[in-house]
Amino acid sequence: LIRFDNVTKRFGDNTVLDNLCFSVETGKHVTLIGPSGSGKTTILRLLMTLVKPDEGVITVNGGRLFPADEKEVREVRKNIGMVFQQFNLFPNMNVLRNVTEAPVRVLGMSKDEAAERAKGLLDLVGLGDKQDMRPTQLSGGQQQRVAIARALAMRPQVLLLDEVTSALDPELVAGVLDVLRDIARTTDITMLCVTHEMNFARDISDDVLMFDAGRVIESGSPEKIFSDPEHARTREFLGAVL
Ligand code: ATP
Repeated sequence: LIRFDNVTKRFGDNTVLDNLCFSVETGKHVTLIGPSGSGKTTILRLLMTLVKPDEGVITVNGGRLFPADEKEVREVRKNIGMVFQQFNLFPNMNVLRNVTEAPVRVLGMSKDEAAERAKGLLDLVGLGDKQDMRPTQLSGGQQQRVAIARALAMRPQVLLLDEVTSALDPELVAGVLDVLRDIARTTDITMLCVTHEMNFARDISDDVLMFDAGRVIESGSPEKIFSDPEHARTREFLGAVL
């Protein structure tokens, strides 16, 4: 379970999250939608402990991320993986090594076991034949699929996806979304996605949370939110993006 209790985050006088409360149940796939600047990415960055809130409590699977001491944070962070808009692969390592590096260094997995698992994950994302290549030799879509395999290699309980297709050429988007749909269908990983791909949100989500000005203004099943939104702001937003 991911839980935000009265979380406030400010950057200077800009209150980006305002007493935010929401939760995501274990194993659910939840998508955050809402206008640019409404604080969606900040939520993922808080969960990655890349930024700290000013107030409130953040817990993941019973462990505290905030407020918490460093040891607690490290334990909880281990269970959370993230895929970024810019793939952030290690440019000087081949594809296989990109996927094995963290399990070996952080989890202390043997190189052989990490390589074995990495090959399985690269097969899963359709890149079994690319393991010796460098990231620069791959298309953006392939790089993003490596980034997904790399995140999964850490066996996270929670996977955060931040606009993972928005840096891709349009023809490469479908391949990445297909991989994520497969993962959503075949694993029990909890997913929290920020996306502008409303079709993907509709397909993959158990719940959609509509954000505006640092608060969840409406939430529900994708059918409900996309077909029969209650809030005027949601209707206006969907009218502009659909
Ligand atoms: P988008 O859909 O455009 O990615 P978003 O809903 O993800 O938007 P955030 O990226 O969370 O929005 O940003 C929310 C607000 O916080 C914006 O006004 C942004 O300028 C501000 N912000 C985010 N990070 C920082 C930072 N490190 N320093 C100062 N302001 C920041």
